[in-house]
Amino acid sequence: MGISEAALMMETIAASGAGFSGASAVHMNIFGLNPVAVYGSAEQKERMLPPIAAGKEKACFAVTEPNAGLETGKLQTRAERSGDRYVINGAKIWISTAQVADKMLILVRTTPVEQVRKPTDGLSLFYTALDRRYVEVRVIDKMGRHAVDSNQVFIDGLKVPAEDRIGEEGRGFEYILHGMNPERILIAAEAIGLGRAALRRASAYARERVVFGRPIGQNQAIQHPLAECWMELEAAELMTRKAAWQYDQGMPCGPAANAAKYLGAEAGFKACQTAVMTHGGYGYAKEYHVERYLRESMIPRLAPVSPQLILCFIAEKVLGLPKSY
Ligand SMILES: Cc1cc2nc3c(=O)[nH]c(=O)nc-3n(C[C@H](O)[C@H](O)[C@H](O)COP(=O)(O)OP(=O)(O)OC[C@H]3O[C@@H](n4cnc5c(N)ncnc54)[C@H](O)[C@@H]3O)c2cc1C
Repeated sequence: MGISEAALMMETIAASGAGFSGASAVHMNIFGLNPVAVYGSAEQKERMLPPIAAGKEKACFAVTEPNAGLETGKLQTRAERSGDRYVINGAKIWISTAQVADKMLILVRTTPVEQVRKPTDGLSLFYTALDRRYVEVRVIDKMGRHAVDSNQVFIDGLKVPAEDRIGEEGRGFEYILHGMNPERILIAAEAIGLGRAALRRASAYARERVVFGRPIGQNQAIQHPLAECWMELEAAELMTRKAAWQYDQGMPCGPAANAAKYLGAEAGFKACQTAVMTHGGYGYAKEYHVERYLRESMIPRLAPVSPQLILCFIAEKVLGLPKSY
């Protein structure tokens, strides 16, 4: 099925109340191998995709590095070719599910940055075994979504067979870019689902909680922010559906996918924050779940790309303004 169906599924998981704890647990295994599905050879698809689909293997997605941040062209992790294999050395950060993953989709440099036309050339993509004899995975203590681990990953002499390279050497960034739009669409859908879970709890609480002799939800100061959240989540959902439809039709979807991720994340965050405020002091108690939703709602704002860089992208690519970074 397409990204439209995947988005619907991820939104439903998050909206069930599972939020990002639930969605992130399956996210990578839904969209992550898209570059293999699109650019892998017939042999690779046969070897790599069925174990993921069957739930026999779990994968993680290793792009971000401590010294590169959002500037992917600055990736320093190296893969050196040696006969019929490569040897990888370097470090990644923020890698979700690396504690439990059997495999990793990893973007690394194969040609030194000084020898390429532009910094994003000379990167290659591999889907390979996360062999813990050569890979140390160290958990990061973080704000929320504790059900799904986030990690620093240190790679020291990991040997990777050449047949685990996806597509051509040096074109990995292009392949990852192709997977970024579906990921933005799924993250948008998850953020909207999370916002809906928060809104559902907030509305229920506003109907039940009686102060000054009436339900707090009878006050417009409580009603209006909730109504606003509903409209913003609906609008973000339409943008997400548009982006997913464009992707599934093979149309360019960069502006819609980025806009969906931005709008979905902001609408989700606002709904979670409003839900905490609607609960008053009880919003701060774990018993009512909305404090967890608020912590989780930061994730789609921060990752996989920041709101600032989405605004830069829209300004440059849609409005024709000069590149600012
Ligand atoms: C919970 C979680 C899970 C994650 N999972 C994964 C994963 O599984 N795999 C993976 O590879 N990565 C993962 N990430 C990493 C995530 O994709 C990055 O954190 C994100 O891309 C931002 O990179 P950075 O943190 O290095 O920010 P930086 O690049 O250091 O940026 C910091 C801030 O500066 C701003 N900034 C930088 N340059 C500019 C500019 N020119 N103009 C305006 N603003 C600018 C950014 O917008 C941002 O707000 C995860 C992150 C989190 C928090």
